[in-house]
Amino acid sequence: MTSQSVAFDGPCLDCGRTAPSSGGVAVVGDRLEWDTESDCPVCGPVLGCGRGAPPPALRDRLLAAHGAVRLDGAGGARWP
Ligand SMILES: [Zn+2]
Repeated sequence: MTSQSVAFDGPCLDCGRTAPSSGGVAVVGDRLEWDTESDCPVCGPVLGCGRGAPPPALRDRLLAAHGAVRLDGAGGARWP
């Protein structure tokens, strides 16, 4: 497994209104990348992304949904 994602109701990255959202992390090459998207009723689709560790709120949602999973670039997954 090289990626993990979760769907949730969370704050729009632009205006803060609660909106249907999703986010995830993936191993891309030799680094970790994350992204999040909200479908805000006011702003429309709003995207955020970055490299390295995901923001704490996204990390907490991934842990709550899937538990701790070790991702690797070879397609494997381990649950510690
Ligand atoms: Zn918004």
